[in-house]
This record gives sequence, C-alpha cells and structure tokens, in this order.
Amino acid sequence: MPARIDHRVVAGTFTLDGETFEVDNNLWVLGDDEECVVIDAPHDVDAIMAAVGDRQVKAILCTHAHDDHVRVAPALRERVSAPILLHPDDQPLWELTHPHELWDADLSDGQRIEVAGTTLQVLHTPGHAPGGVCFSVPELGCVFTGDTLFSGGPGATGRSFSDHEVLVGSIRDKLFALPDATVVHTGHGEDTTVGAERDHVPALP
Ligand SMILES: [Zn+2]
Repeated sequence: MPARIDHRVVAGTFTLDGETFEVDNNLWVLGDDEECVVIDAPHDVDAIMAAVGDRQVKAILCTHAHDDHVRVAPALRERVSAPILLHPDDQPLWELTHPHELWDADLSDGQRIEVAGTTLQVLHTPGHAPGGVCFSVPELGCVFTGDTLFSGGPGATGRSFSDHEVLVGSIRDKLFALPDATVVHTGHGEDTTVGAERDHVPALP
C-alpha cells in the first residue's frame, strides 16, 4: 500500500519578540497503516494523535523551531516514543520554547528519511528561520515547506532570526529546482504548487 498524507488544522498561538498571535497550523502525517512520520508538532498532542491513530511514529520532523511548530514536540515524544529531528541552526529558537529539553537528532541538507516505503529528502532552506527545512517527497509529487513558502509567496521575515534575501535564495535554489507540478503543503493556509509560486518570488537584484 502506498504512503498517504493525513492533514489536520490545529489552532493555537505564536509568540516571538514579545508579541503573541492566534494562528492555525497545518499538521501533516505521512505514512501507511503501520507507521508514519509527523511533520511539526503544533499546539495540541491529542489533535496530533487523532491523525496518527494507532500507527507507530518513526520520527517527529520539525520544519523549524518557532513555538507554534514545536510547542508540543517533547510531549508528543513522550506519548509515542519517537525522536525529534531538527536542523541544528534553529537551536536559538528551540531554546526560547524549550530551554530545558533537547531534540534527539539533527537534520541536514540532502538527508533521506524512509517511512512506509517512501523517501523524504531534507532541503535546508534558511531564511524564515536559520534552521528551516523542507521535506521533498518526489514519489508523491509533493514538498512540505513549513513557513518557507506559502500560497502567495515566501514566508514572513519581519522578526528575529529571519532574513528575506536568504529566504528568497533558498526558495529559488532548492524549491524552484522541483518540478512545476509539485504540490506544496505549507505550514499555514492552503496548498499551492511550485509552478504557481514562481511569479510570487522575484529574482534578487
Ligand atoms: Zn515560523
């Protein structure tokens, strides 16, 4: 049986630089009936478990360490006994949310993660966050972009640890190398495609 993707929207808050906002986060689970990986751990362990069911969770994959994406990662780890994977460049953001806990293993550009007979390829895409990553799944014709790329263009870069030019470079180098038809599953809001976003991410001067 091929791998499938389960999706939920989980509501909560995002806090950075002393301001707090209400946010709806996309939760993505990739796997089959036996095993899966969870992409980001927003807000509510029970909501995540509703998408996981009784499957074995092989890993909790963090697109980046903003608190709305990793708030319940340690609690989920306790519940399902799976490691948390994060790019180490997001250590400063992780420590803002979880000063007394660590993630379990580092993500790195080009790394491959196997689940349910399917391979996720890690793309390091800094800019929204220094350790931001996307997970490309060529077999399924999709990529999970976290807050790197949304429907409508690049993620936000107005706060600490973000850099717009770095983000645009990441999108153009890594995501725009994927086929136009690649479905983009984002961290917030609607899906899009790589082709649909090409006009929304201008070349840098
Ligand atoms: Zn973010």
